[in-house]
Amino acid sequence: RSNVVSVAPILTKLQKECATPLPVLRQVADAMTADMRAGLEADGASDLKMILSYVDSLPSGNEKGLFYALDLGGTNFRVLRVQLGGKEERVVATEFEQVSIPQELMFGTSEELFDFIASGLANFAQKEGGKFHLPHGREREIGFTFSFPVKQTSVDSGILIKWTKGFAVSGTAGRDVVACLNEAMKRRGLDMRVSALVNDTVGTLAGARYWDNDVMVAVILGTGTNACYVERIDAIPKLQGPKSSSRRTIVNTEWGAFSTGIPLTEFDREMDAASINPGEQIFEKTISGMYLGEIARRVLLKMAEESALFGKFVPEKLSTPFALCTPDLCAMQQDNSDDLQSVGSILCNVLGAESSSSARKIVVEVCDTIVKRGGRLAGAGIVGILQKMEEDSKGLIFGKRTVVAMDGGLYEHYPQYRRYLQEAVTEILGLEISKNIVIEHSKDGSGIGAALLAATNSKYD
Ligand code: ADP
Repeated sequence: RSNVVSVAPILTKLQKECATPLPVLRQVADAMTADMRAGLEADGASDLKMILSYVDSLPSGNEKGLFYALDLGGTNFRVLRVQLGGKEERVVATEFEQVSIPQELMFGTSEELFDFIASGLANFAQKEGGKFHLPHGREREIGFTFSFPVKQTSVDSGILIKWTKGFAVSGTAGRDVVACLNEAMKRRGLDMRVSALVNDTVGTLAGARYWDNDVMVAVILGTGTNACYVERIDAIPKLQGPKSSSRRTIVNTEWGAFSTGIPLTEFDREMDAASINPGEQIFEKTISGMYLGEIARRVLLKMAEESALFGKFVPEKLSTPFALCTPDLCAMQQDNSDDLQSVGSILCNVLGAESSSSARKIVVEVCDTIVKRGGRLAGAGIVGILQKMEEDSKGLIFGKRTVVAMDGGLYEHYPQYRRYLQEAVTEILGLEISKNIVIEHSKDGSGIGAALLAATNSKYD
């Protein structure tokens, strides 16, 4: 007998606290709708920032010419060029390169970082040829995806609020990042300019919309999570001053900060308390890739300590924060064998844990419980956005085909998560309406999306 106290009550309690029956899903969707409205009323009035993207012309498919994209969001930056051929020819050619950012530049000055990026761009632009062609006398235009918090002031400018994700570059905070890049390109004698500064979800929406006019929402589920959607200008009370002549714009919800009505456990609360941003990003901490593995680890640690899940000793690595990652949960959930051989080897390799067949079954149950809650809550969040749009324009969303473009490693690689998300959407909306809602993967649309937004915001039009 290996169990000191039975593990069953811990599992049962977890499942009960993570449960997301239809009434809970409905409450979460309704709260998302209400918080969106509050965030559109006034800045600071809601968990949801509802940031204006200033993107109010979406790709139509008619875009023509050569455009560049630059994506800076982590330890790499990506550059891309695309030759657009209009309605018939569409994407004539694309090329991209990835450059890793030397560690020391993440702690250097703003000039050093942007000079490095400008030189990467210059290198890449120099190799332009073949099917890529810039009309005579025109400057190359760039769509700049910048995944750090910025206060945007127009489609081609935005002030950096602060660096995140390990960047500690001096002299950029409080400055317009587009000006920083344009100045660096000038110092290098590079004839390029930024035409659009875009958030990565906005890029994903634009990229998907290029191929499909019914795309109204984009959601990223990767390490973190975010969502944006197409909003009516006149439904944004906080938007002051001259309103754009076009009737619609993209709003970046920053929905990771949502928190109303989410079922949480002791494991979530402890993880949050130990995080670098306690009390913040609660939705993100329940549904995104960075955290699902960590929540499961905390559950398994308790089971090991109180019920000897892995025998007499608690595996040392099980006490290390983030030792178990979401791809590990995913890999374990793909094991359909009777004795759960691969679950056993993953537990052994990742945590140094020896496991009985019954322990492995428990582990899979724990993973499933956490992932099910995450996927279903993400689905409820999507319904919250859709029903906000439907309430304002009856029939716009539920009365016809509407596409939600999805991207991010979690959504792409975790089949169970994807299924739970879809099931929750169908459950809340009912079979009839959900037939109109297409939730589909739009792979790496955000790079081309940024280039497309450079095209739709081109200074030559
Ligand atoms: P990021 O969000 O970091 O910009 P991605 O969209 O590629 O980049 O997402 C990466 C995240 O996706 C990882 O942190 C991980 O949580 C999740 N992920 C990657 N591969 C898998 C997998 N096989 N199974 C489940 N989740 C995965």
